[in-house]
Amino acid sequence: MVLADLGRRINSAISSLNRSPTIDDKQLDAALKEICTALLESDVNVKLVASLRSRVRTKVKAALEGGADKAKEAQRRNVVQKTVFDELVSLVNPGVEPYKPKKGQSNIIMAVGLQGNGKTTTCTKLAVYYQKRGFKSCIVCADTFRAGAFDQTRQSATKAKVAYFGSYTETDPVVIAAQGVEKFRKERFEIIIVDTSGRHKQEKDLFAEMEQISAAVKPDMTILVLDASIGQAAEAQSRAFKEAADFGAIIVTKMDGHAKGGGAISAVAATQTPIIFLGTGEHLSDLERFAPEPFISKMLG
Ligand code: GDP
Repeated sequence: MVLADLGRRINSAISSLNRSPTIDDKQLDAALKEICTALLESDVNVKLVASLRSRVRTKVKAALEGGADKAKEAQRRNVVQKTVFDELVSLVNPGVEPYKPKKGQSNIIMAVGLQGNGKTTTCTKLAVYYQKRGFKSCIVCADTFRAGAFDQTRQSATKAKVAYFGSYTETDPVVIAAQGVEKFRKERFEIIIVDTSGRHKQEKDLFAEMEQISAAVKPDMTILVLDASIGQAAEAQSRAFKEAADFGAIIVTKMDGHAKGGGAISAVAATQTPIIFLGTGEHLSDLERFAPEPFISKMLG
Protein backbone atom coordinates (compact mmCIF):
# COMPACT_ATOMS: atom_id res chain seq x y z
CA MET A 1 0.00 0.00 0.00
CA VAL A 2 1.47 3.36 -0.97
CA LEU A 3 1.61 6.09 1.66
CA ALA A 4 -1.29 8.15 0.29
CA ASP A 5 -3.51 5.05 0.55
CA LEU A 6 -2.21 4.42 4.05
CA GLY A 7 -3.25 7.95 5.01
CA ARG A 8 -6.70 7.40 3.52
CA ARG A 9 -7.15 4.11 5.42
CA ILE A 10 -6.13 5.69 8.73
CA ASN A 11 -8.44 8.64 8.12
CA SER A 12 -11.33 6.38 7.27
CA ALA A 13 -10.80 4.30 10.45
CA ILE A 14 -10.90 7.51 12.50
CA SER A 15 -13.96 8.85 10.66
CA SER A 16 -15.91 5.65 11.21
CA LEU A 17 -15.11 6.04 14.89
CA ASN A 18 -16.35 9.62 14.61
CA ARG A 19 -19.63 8.47 13.12
CA SER A 20 -20.45 6.14 16.01
CA PRO A 21 -22.48 7.80 18.77
CA THR A 22 -20.10 6.77 21.56
CA ILE A 23 -16.57 5.49 21.71
CA ASP A 24 -16.27 2.34 23.76
CA ASP A 25 -13.45 -0.22 23.99
CA LYS A 26 -14.88 -2.31 21.19
CA GLN A 27 -15.07 0.59 18.76
CA LEU A 28 -11.65 1.85 19.73
CA ASP A 29 -10.16 -1.61 19.22
CA ALA A 30 -11.85 -2.00 15.85
CA ALA A 31 -10.47 1.35 14.67
CA LEU A 32 -7.00 0.51 16.00
CA LYS A 33 -7.09 -2.86 14.29
CA GLU A 34 -7.86 -1.20 10.97
CA ILE A 35 -5.09 1.40 11.45
CA CYS A 36 -2.54 -1.26 12.40
CA THR A 37 -3.47 -3.55 9.50
CA ALA A 38 -2.95 -0.61 7.16
CA LEU A 39 0.46 0.14 8.70
CA LEU A 40 1.51 -3.51 8.38
CA GLU A 41 0.38 -3.63 4.77
CA SER A 42 2.63 -0.61 4.19
CA ASP A 43 5.57 -2.62 5.56
CA VAL A 44 5.97 -0.72 8.82
CA ASN A 45 7.87 -2.99 11.20
CA VAL A 46 5.66 -5.47 13.08
CA LYS A 47 7.03 -4.63 16.54
CA LEU A 48 6.62 -0.90 15.94
CA VAL A 49 3.00 -1.39 14.94
CA ALA A 50 2.30 -3.50 18.03
CA SER A 51 3.80 -0.92 20.36
CA LEU A 52 2.00 1.95 18.59
CA ARG A 53 -1.27 0.09 19.08
CA SER A 54 -0.75 -0.45 22.78
CA ARG A 55 0.45 3.12 23.37
CA VAL A 56 -2.54 4.63 21.56
CA ARG A 57 -4.90 2.39 23.51
CA THR A 58 -3.32 3.28 26.86
CA LYS A 59 -3.17 7.01 26.14
CA VAL A 60 -6.71 7.23 24.80
CA LYS A 61 -8.12 5.26 27.71
CA ALA A 62 -6.23 7.36 30.24
CA ALA A 63 -7.46 10.55 28.59
CA LEU A 64 -11.04 9.29 28.40
CA GLU A 65 -11.10 7.99 31.94
CA GLY A 66 -9.63 11.26 33.19
CA GLY A 67 -12.74 13.20 32.31
CA ALA A 68 -14.81 10.59 30.60
CA ASP A 69 -18.13 11.26 32.21
CA LYS A 70 -18.08 14.93 31.62
CA ALA A 71 -16.11 15.07 28.41
CA LYS A 72 -18.17 15.69 25.35
CA GLU A 73 -18.05 13.04 22.66
CA ALA A 74 -16.34 15.48 20.31
CA GLN A 75 -13.50 15.88 22.75
CA ARG A 76 -13.10 12.14 23.04
CA ARG A 77 -12.78 11.94 19.28
CA ASN A 78 -10.14 14.61 19.30
CA VAL A 79 -8.18 12.58 21.80
CA VAL A 80 -8.17 9.57 19.48
CA GLN A 81 -7.26 11.64 16.44
CA LYS A 82 -4.52 13.54 18.22
CA THR A 83 -3.04 10.45 19.86
CA VAL A 84 -2.86 8.58 16.54
CA PHE A 85 -1.30 11.64 14.88
CA ASP A 86 1.29 12.05 17.65
CA GLU A 87 2.21 8.38 17.57
CA LEU A 88 2.65 8.43 13.79
CA VAL A 89 4.87 11.51 14.13
CA SER A 90 6.97 9.84 16.81
CA LEU A 91 7.37 6.83 14.52
CA VAL A 92 9.34 9.02 12.10
CA ASN A 93 10.91 11.28 14.70
CA PRO A 94 13.83 9.89 16.70
CA GLY A 95 14.23 13.24 18.47
CA VAL A 96 17.80 13.60 17.23
CA GLU A 97 18.99 16.71 15.41
CA PRO A 98 20.90 15.92 12.22
CA TYR A 99 24.20 17.64 11.42
CA LYS A 100 23.74 21.11 9.93
CA PRO A 101 26.39 22.14 7.38
CA LYS A 102 28.01 25.46 8.15
CA LYS A 103 29.12 28.11 5.69
CA GLY A 104 32.76 29.14 5.54
CA GLN A 105 34.14 25.68 6.33
CA SER A 106 34.45 22.30 4.60
CA ASN A 107 31.55 20.01 5.53
CA ILE A 108 32.33 16.43 4.57
CA ILE A 109 29.28 14.29 3.78
CA MET A 110 29.68 10.58 3.04
CA ALA A 111 26.89 8.58 1.37
CA VAL A 112 26.53 4.84 1.96
CA GLY A 113 23.98 2.25 0.91
CA LEU A 114 23.36 -0.80 -1.22
CA GLN A 115 23.77 -0.67 -4.98
CA GLY A 116 20.75 0.59 -6.89
CA ASN A 117 19.23 2.41 -3.93
CA GLY A 118 19.91 5.76 -5.60
CA LYS A 119 23.14 6.80 -3.91
CA THR A 120 24.88 8.37 -6.90
CA THR A 121 21.75 10.22 -8.02
CA THR A 122 21.17 11.45 -4.47
CA CYS A 123 24.75 12.74 -4.14
CA THR A 124 24.24 15.01 -7.15
CA LYS A 125 20.81 16.09 -5.90
CA LEU A 126 22.36 17.01 -2.55
CA ALA A 127 25.17 18.98 -4.19
CA VAL A 128 22.58 20.89 -6.24
CA TYR A 129 20.44 21.49 -3.15
CA TYR A 130 23.29 23.01 -1.18
CA GLN A 131 24.70 24.87 -4.17
CA LYS A 132 21.32 26.60 -4.61
CA ARG A 133 21.60 27.70 -0.98
CA GLY A 134 24.94 29.36 -1.53
CA PHE A 135 27.32 26.56 -0.49
CA LYS A 136 30.26 25.87 -2.78
CA SER A 137 29.53 22.19 -3.44
CA CYS A 138 31.28 19.22 -5.06
CA ILE A 139 31.27 15.43 -5.36
CA VAL A 140 34.03 12.85 -4.91
CA CYS A 141 33.27 9.55 -6.65
CA ALA A 142 34.89 6.83 -4.53
CA ASP A 143 32.80 4.09 -6.13
CA THR A 144 35.32 1.90 -7.93
CA PHE A 145 33.19 -1.23 -7.67
CA ARG A 146 30.45 -0.44 -10.14
CA ALA A 147 31.63 -0.06 -13.72
CA GLY A 148 30.43 3.27 -15.02
CA ALA A 149 29.93 4.89 -11.63
CA PHE A 150 32.46 7.64 -12.30
CA ASP A 151 30.96 8.29 -15.75
CA GLN A 152 27.54 8.63 -14.15
CA THR A 153 28.89 11.13 -11.60
CA ARG A 154 30.78 13.02 -14.31
CA GLN A 155 27.69 13.33 -16.50
CA SER A 156 25.25 14.32 -13.79
CA ALA A 157 27.71 16.68 -12.07
CA THR A 158 28.51 18.35 -15.39
CA LYS A 159 24.80 18.76 -16.12
CA ALA A 160 24.28 20.23 -12.65
CA LYS A 161 27.39 22.45 -12.95
CA VAL A 162 28.86 20.91 -9.80
CA ALA A 163 32.60 20.23 -9.41
CA TYR A 164 33.59 16.56 -9.21
CA PHE A 165 36.61 14.34 -8.63
CA GLY A 166 37.26 10.70 -9.52
CA SER A 167 39.65 8.44 -11.39
CA TYR A 168 39.56 5.99 -14.29
CA THR A 169 42.84 4.40 -13.26
CA GLU A 170 43.06 4.35 -9.48
CA THR A 171 41.38 1.22 -8.12
CA ASP A 172 41.61 1.95 -4.40
CA PRO A 173 38.49 3.89 -3.30
CA VAL A 174 40.20 4.97 -0.08
CA VAL A 175 42.97 6.70 -2.06
CA ILE A 176 40.45 8.44 -4.34
CA ALA A 177 38.31 9.59 -1.41
CA ALA A 178 41.32 10.95 0.48
CA GLN A 179 42.76 12.72 -2.60
CA GLY A 180 39.42 14.21 -3.60
CA VAL A 181 38.60 15.51 -0.16
CA GLU A 182 42.08 16.97 0.29
CA LYS A 183 41.93 18.74 -3.08
CA PHE A 184 38.49 20.23 -2.45
CA ARG A 185 39.35 21.22 1.11
CA LYS A 186 42.31 23.19 -0.22
CA GLU A 187 40.01 24.82 -2.77
CA ARG A 188 37.71 25.83 0.08
CA PHE A 189 34.66 23.89 -1.02
CA GLU A 190 31.99 24.01 1.68
CA ILE A 191 30.01 20.86 0.86
CA ILE A 192 32.16 17.89 -0.14
CA ILE A 193 30.04 14.81 -0.85
CA VAL A 194 31.82 11.45 -0.97
CA ASP A 195 29.94 8.79 -2.94
CA THR A 196 31.01 5.28 -1.91
CA SER A 197 30.59 1.86 -3.52
CA GLY A 198 27.49 -0.20 -3.01
CA ARG A 199 27.03 -3.95 -3.32
CA HIS A 200 23.95 -5.99 -4.03
CA LYS A 201 23.81 -7.13 -0.45
CA GLN A 202 25.60 -6.42 2.81
CA GLU A 203 29.05 -7.94 2.52
CA LYS A 204 32.10 -7.91 4.73
CA ASP A 205 34.17 -6.26 1.99
CA LEU A 206 31.71 -3.42 1.63
CA PHE A 207 31.64 -2.69 5.33
CA ALA A 208 35.45 -2.87 5.62
CA GLU A 209 35.77 -0.44 2.71
CA MET A 210 33.25 1.97 4.24
CA GLU A 211 35.14 1.97 7.51
CA GLN A 212 38.44 2.70 5.73
CA ILE A 213 36.97 5.55 3.67
CA SER A 214 35.35 6.97 6.77
CA ALA A 215 38.66 6.85 8.65
CA ALA A 216 40.41 8.56 5.71
CA VAL A 217 37.95 11.42 5.13
CA LYS A 218 36.47 11.80 8.66
CA PRO A 219 32.97 12.76 7.55
CA ASP A 220 30.96 15.34 9.49
CA MET A 221 27.84 13.45 8.46
CA THR A 222 27.36 9.98 6.99
CA ILE A 223 24.06 9.40 5.21
CA LEU A 224 22.40 6.05 4.60
CA VAL A 225 20.57 6.09 1.26
CA LEU A 226 17.61 3.69 1.40
CA ASP A 227 15.19 2.72 -1.35
CA ALA A 228 11.57 3.26 -0.24
CA SER A 229 10.67 -0.24 -1.44
CA ILE A 230 12.98 -2.01 1.01
CA GLY A 231 10.10 -3.46 3.03
CA GLN A 232 10.58 -5.48 6.20
CA ALA A 233 14.30 -5.98 5.43
CA ALA A 234 14.86 -2.37 6.50
CA GLU A 235 15.43 -3.14 10.14
CA ALA A 236 18.27 -5.65 9.68
CA GLN A 237 19.86 -3.68 6.87
CA SER A 238 19.85 -0.34 8.61
CA ARG A 239 21.16 -1.88 11.83
CA ALA A 240 24.05 -3.52 9.94
CA PHE A 241 24.95 -0.24 8.24
CA LYS A 242 24.66 1.65 11.51
CA GLU A 243 27.17 -0.67 13.12
CA ALA A 244 29.66 -0.40 10.28
CA ALA A 245 29.24 3.22 9.21
CA ASP A 246 27.48 4.89 12.13
CA PHE A 247 25.43 7.08 9.80
CA GLY A 248 23.80 10.16 11.32
CA ALA A 249 21.04 10.70 8.75
CA ILE A 250 18.85 8.79 6.30
CA ILE A 251 17.62 9.73 2.84
CA VAL A 252 14.73 7.63 1.53
CA THR A 253 14.69 7.51 -2.28
CA LYS A 254 12.00 6.64 -4.84
CA MET A 255 9.14 7.95 -2.73
CA ASP A 256 7.47 8.87 -6.04
CA GLY A 257 7.12 5.25 -7.09
CA HIS A 258 4.74 2.56 -5.95
CA ALA A 259 6.84 1.64 -2.95
CA LYS A 260 5.06 1.18 0.35
CA GLY A 261 7.60 3.29 2.22
CA GLY A 262 6.83 1.86 5.65
CA GLY A 263 9.97 -0.27 5.71
CA ALA A 264 12.27 2.67 5.17
CA ILE A 265 10.37 4.60 7.81
CA SER A 266 11.01 1.74 10.24
CA ALA A 267 14.75 2.27 9.76
CA VAL A 268 14.38 5.49 11.77
CA ALA A 269 13.22 3.59 14.84
CA ALA A 270 15.68 0.71 14.34
CA THR A 271 18.63 3.10 14.34
CA GLN A 272 17.25 6.18 16.13
CA THR A 273 18.44 8.26 13.18
CA PRO A 274 16.50 11.05 11.45
CA ILE A 275 15.39 11.09 7.83
CA ILE A 276 16.59 14.37 6.34
CA PHE A 277 15.40 14.23 2.72
CA LEU A 278 13.12 12.22 0.46
CA GLY A 279 14.01 11.44 -3.14
CA THR A 280 10.90 12.00 -5.22
CA GLY A 281 12.00 11.39 -8.81
CA GLU A 282 14.88 10.95 -11.21
CA HIS A 283 15.47 14.66 -11.84
CA LEU A 284 18.14 16.54 -9.92
CA SER A 285 15.59 18.82 -8.27
CA ASP A 286 13.48 15.89 -7.02
CA LEU A 287 14.67 16.12 -3.43
CA GLU A 288 12.39 17.22 -0.59
CA ARG A 289 13.35 18.23 2.92
CA PHE A 290 11.85 15.82 5.41
CA ALA A 291 10.24 16.90 8.67
CA PRO A 292 8.11 14.52 10.79
CA GLU A 293 4.98 16.62 11.41
CA PRO A 294 4.47 18.00 7.90
CA PHE A 295 5.13 14.53 6.49
CA ILE A 296 2.42 12.88 8.61
CA SER A 297 0.00 15.79 8.05
CA LYS A 298 0.47 15.48 4.31
CA MET A 299 0.07 11.70 4.44
CA LEU A 300 -3.20 12.05 6.30
CA GLY A 301 -4.29 14.66 3.76
P1 GDP B 1 23.28 3.68 -6.76
O1 GDP B 1 23.69 2.34 -7.33
O2 GDP B 1 22.82 3.54 -5.35
O3 GDP B 1 24.31 4.73 -6.92
O4 GDP B 1 21.96 4.11 -7.55
P2 GDP B 1 21.73 5.19 -8.72
O5 GDP B 1 21.91 6.56 -8.23
O6 GDP B 1 22.50 4.79 -9.92
O7 GDP B 1 20.16 4.99 -8.96
C1 GDP B 1 19.59 3.77 -9.40
C2 GDP B 1 18.34 4.10 -10.20
O8 GDP B 1 17.35 4.69 -9.37
C3 GDP B 1 18.57 5.10 -11.33
O9 GDP B 1 17.84 4.69 -12.45
C4 GDP B 1 18.03 6.42 -10.76
O10 GDP B 1 17.56 7.29 -11.77
C5 GDP B 1 16.87 5.91 -9.91
N1 GDP B 1 16.53 6.82 -8.81
C6 GDP B 1 17.31 7.34 -7.82
N2 GDP B 1 16.60 8.11 -6.98
C7 GDP B 1 15.31 8.08 -7.41
C8 GDP B 1 14.06 8.67 -6.93
O11 GDP B 1 13.98 9.36 -5.92
N3 GDP B 1 12.95 8.38 -7.66
C9 GDP B 1 12.99 7.59 -8.80
N4 GDP B 1 11.84 7.35 -9.45
N5 GDP B 1 14.12 7.02 -9.24
C10 GDP B 1 15.27 7.26 -8.59
